[in-house]
Amino acid sequence: MLHPAVLSLLLVIASALYSYLLMSLTLRPWRLARNEHWTERARWLWMARVARFFVFLGAVAIGTAAWLERPDDAMVLPIALAVLAGYFTALFFIDRRIEPRYTLRFWLSLLFWKIGIVYALVGTLAWTAYSTSVQVTGTDWLRIAVAAVVMSVIYSGVWLLVLPGRGKNAHTPRLRQIVDEVATKAGVGPVRAWVAESVTANAVAFMFIRSIVVTSRAMEALNDDELRTLVQHELAHLRESLFVRCARLLGGLSWLGFAFTRPVVHRIEYGGVFWIFLGVMLVRRLAQNVAKRMENRADSMSATTNDEGPVYARALEKLYELNQMPAVMSRRLLHPHLYDRMTAAGLTPDYPRPAPPPKRHWTSLAALLPPMLWFFWLGFRSAGKL
Ligand SMILES: [Zn+2]
Repeated sequence: MLHPAVLSLLLVIASALYSYLLMSLTLRPWRLARNEHWTERARWLWMARVARFFVFLGAVAIGTAAWLERPDDAMVLPIALAVLAGYFTALFFIDRRIEPRYTLRFWLSLLFWKIGIVYALVGTLAWTAYSTSVQVTGTDWLRIAVAAVVMSVIYSGVWLLVLPGRGKNAHTPRLRQIVDEVATKAGVGPVRAWVAESVTANAVAFMFIRSIVVTSRAMEALNDDELRTLVQHELAHLRESLFVRCARLLGGLSWLGFAFTRPVVHRIEYGGVFWIFLGVMLVRRLAQNVAKRMENRADSMSATTNDEGPVYARALEKLYELNQMPAVMSRRLLHPHLYDRMTAAGLTPDYPRPAPPPKRHWTSLAALLPPMLWFFWLGFRSAGKL
């Protein structure tokens, strides 16, 4: 019998090697396309990013199989932590290969915030779903309302206002000047202008706190004219109607439908969970449709003159190229495809429309194969015992 500490250590190493090997193999087509056009490389990188999910599932399955070897409640947490530690260690080195600008410190802080926000949202949901009684009482409604407020605070970004040193950067004065200029021209009141330190080039609008955030990488890459069109896009988001804001918030709060899991299961058994899921997905779909329409609207407001259209198109292309994001996806996500956004802005790229990223890589299947074989072996062994 292995000592729990030895087992955990072995699992960290196994999960790290396993994840690194598979993710590295998935990156191979991207590496081989080194000298090709950036849109071609971005296609392969996107596929590698999608494959990560399967690698993660594979690592989790290995942990589960290790636990099944000797089911012990006290080992659930150490095994889960060991598998995650291995996976994330591998992910750091893979991310560094894709983007050498990542430092361990920055990468960890990003992971910390991502996990923190997800944990806060899922934790709030789990707390309400777990506490709601079979017959919904006044206290339950109050708890759900509190959860809705907590989730709204997280989604709206209000918490960013109390973050020390936020948005202050060597680039901030330049962004401040352009945001002021654009806001004055549009006849809009004061808008916060923040620069976020980041290795990705991006911009985002927090409409609930009237803030425009541009990352340091985008500030370095764009000239003033390009930055102005990007700010005009984000300002368009700040000028969305109350209805749109409510729809956006409702999309995020829709998960609260799961707070009613217990009363629904009590009344219509476990099939009820399906109806809750359907309801949540429906509300989310409606909110997404509104958000997509708003991206089209913001794109159309990014250029205020005919000359600005191509400038905006070039700004977008720079961001996509730096982030190695595909110019055409297999289906539209939140934004239209870059190629279409550029054409709509009045600039047809000087390369043909790229194909969407390949759907899958053989490594996705390879990631699940070893744990599956392990499960089969465990099944055969326990069947042999019977
Ligand atoms: Zn937008």
